[in-house]
Amino acid sequence: MFRLLLLALLVFAVYRLIRGRSTRPPVPGPQQRTLPEQHMVRCAHCGVYVPETESIGDEDRRYCSQAHRVAGPVQQRRR
Ligand SMILES: [Zn+2]
Repeated sequence: MFRLLLLALLVFAVYRLIRGRSTRPPVPGPQQRTLPEQHMVRCAHCGVYVPETESIGDEDRRYCSQAHRVAGPVQQRRR
């Protein structure tokens, strides 16, 4: 009788150990940190999306770099 009780206790302990591990939420690592949300703007020349704070403005158009601002906007081809 005592052995059966001990076995039941052991099974219960193992069950709790396994269940405790699987239900524990994963600890967020450094790669899972969320960056502050940034408004992305499209370069009028190459179409690449860059954060608005890093873009270069020219009137109502935004560019990814000074070179593209100088090159100017590229007309988008319509299909
Ligand atoms: Zn560009």
